[in-house]
Amino acid sequence: MEDTATANVKFSSLSLDPQILRAIEDEGYTEPTPIQAQAIPQILAGRDLMAMAQTGTGKTAAFTLPLLQLLMPHASSSASPARHPIRALILAPTRELAIQVEKSVETYSKHVALRSTVVYGGTDIKAQKPALMKGVEILVATPGRLLDHVESRNLMLNQVQVLILDEADRMLDMGFMPDLKRILTLLPKQRQTLLFSATFSDEIKKLAQDFLVNPVTVEAARRNAAAENVKQSVLLVEHDKKFSVLAGLIRERGLKQVLVFTRTKLTAGRVAKLLEREGILADAIHGDKTQQERIKALDAFKEGKITALVATDVAARGLDIDQLPLVVNYELPPNAEDYVHRIGRTGRAGASGEAISLVDGAEERLLKEIEHLLKREFPREHAAAQASPRERTAAPAPVPVSDSPRAIASHPARAAGPDRQVNRANPVERGHRVKKPAATDDWFMRPYEPSPVAAKLEVQSEVVQDKPKKQIAALLSRPPDKS
Ligand code: AMP
Repeated sequence: MEDTATANVKFSSLSLDPQILRAIEDEGYTEPTPIQAQAIPQILAGRDLMAMAQTGTGKTAAFTLPLLQLLMPHASSSASPARHPIRALILAPTRELAIQVEKSVETYSKHVALRSTVVYGGTDIKAQKPALMKGVEILVATPGRLLDHVESRNLMLNQVQVLILDEADRMLDMGFMPDLKRILTLLPKQRQTLLFSATFSDEIKKLAQDFLVNPVTVEAARRNAAAENVKQSVLLVEHDKKFSVLAGLIRERGLKQVLVFTRTKLTAGRVAKLLEREGILADAIHGDKTQQERIKALDAFKEGKITALVATDVAARGLDIDQLPLVVNYELPPNAEDYVHRIGRTGRAGASGEAISLVDGAEERLLKEIEHLLKREFPREHAAAQASPRERTAAPAPVPVSDSPRAIASHPARAAGPDRQVNRANPVERGHRVKKPAATDDWFMRPYEPSPVAAKLEVQSEVVQDKPKKQIAALLSRPPDKS
């Protein structure tokens, strides 16, 4: 969406240092996106900012470029850690987003002597210490892990001049408010604060009241008007034909890169595994994968080593893949707003993209909710299911890949007997275990195993999530604020 007031803004007119402009040029950006054109001058003027911008709008550069400009006076090639105190703190809700933001900071700062690093949960905290000890001007962090480092005295936040809250709405959704409040008490009162959020809910406005001083508000795209450059379509597919349709789509179109969304970890793992069995290189990312597995899968996907990345919403949040042509919603998300986030993975920064949703009868209600949110109706096409080679040759039971109660109850291959290793934490699965069918593919009886790509990795015994920390308050000076 082009804003007429910002349509003619050039990077060269934004008072950015030539070394920053050089990095922008290296990236091939010709002009600022609307959020960049609006936000950069305000940030350079020292204003607190409340920006409504979703991923894909260029929001990361919108805060990083002026941040680098503001920190330019502190650029130093000195090796002394004392010359590199943390001057900017960027908080992100997930490790994936944190990693991605830090990559962008590195990209845009490659010609200036400012250092950055990223810290996030789920990996060894000790491994993150050396970079902190060397000193960095810009720290990207998930809130929980940041507090872990504070507690371990690995860093000081008393020289932070700029605080950036990225995807603030998601941070609140994930319960990070108490952590954010704790972090706030560790920062200097005199500072600039920038809040980026996909939505401006009442909670976000309240957060802004608490954290920001007299902020300017900028808006890149109206809520839910995202991804206008993404061609969206709906294919009506019987539940047990979804996998065949997906495999057929990938083959027929000769796709090299497709991001597939499922609702559950179990389905993500299974779809990836089935694609591999069909000769389509695939991997899954979801909450049960270790951090290394997720990074490895993501890198393999970005580098074109795998064709399909199958992801759950939580794992996919913040993904940024240049030129991603297609997103497939294997299952619609339970939350309509997540549909907007999902399709926002394609059609980024003005490129065109496509999103196809495979919808079965049980998902019609979810589809209606999405249509209501987007204020548009999607024409429904009927998908002709493709017979996969496995089905043609071995003719096993139709491939079951969803975890919905309806599917489990009605599908013979999913209606597993007591010997089946179901996800015992999943009441849906527990409640629907019925008699074992006569002929079925025993692969479905086994829990998900990492694919060959992930299997080579060192598997952690336990995935440590970067969960909000409640107990940290006791270690710090003030009792936790009520949120
Ligand atoms: P973001 O909204 O920060 O997740 O950025 C989405 C994508 O847009 C990233 O791949 C950026 O590299 C790209 N991008 C950011 N700014 C621009 C720009 N001015 N022109 C073209 N691409 C951009």
